[in-house]
Amino acid sequence: MRVAFGSSPGGFPRGRPALKLPFRNVYGMVEEINPQCSAKGCRAPAVWQLRWNNPKIHTPERRKTWLACDEHRASLGSFLEARGFLREVTPFTSSGDAIIS
Ligand SMILES: [Zn+2]
Repeated sequence: MRVAFGSSPGGFPRGRPALKLPFRNVYGMVEEINPQCSAKGCRAPAVWQLRWNNPKIHTPERRKTWLACDEHRASLGSFLEARGFLREVTPFTSSGDAIIS
């Protein structure tokens, strides 16, 4: 099993400055959703979505989404949980609520 725990999955937090956007603009941003696993270098199709929030840069209602394959759900979840960011993990289906083409 390949676990890249020391890296920054999804480019977080490296390269992600603490944005201080006006409240209304937060909801105007388009969530970038990729049907592949968010783990670095992993191209497996996503089967889980990890919903998280960084209280330092996000409003409490805001949710960011990482997608994970079965293999990386635990490592990505641990990464978020260790920082207190993880809110929920739900099954991901491309026919569900996510906008996938
Ligand atoms: Zn993966």
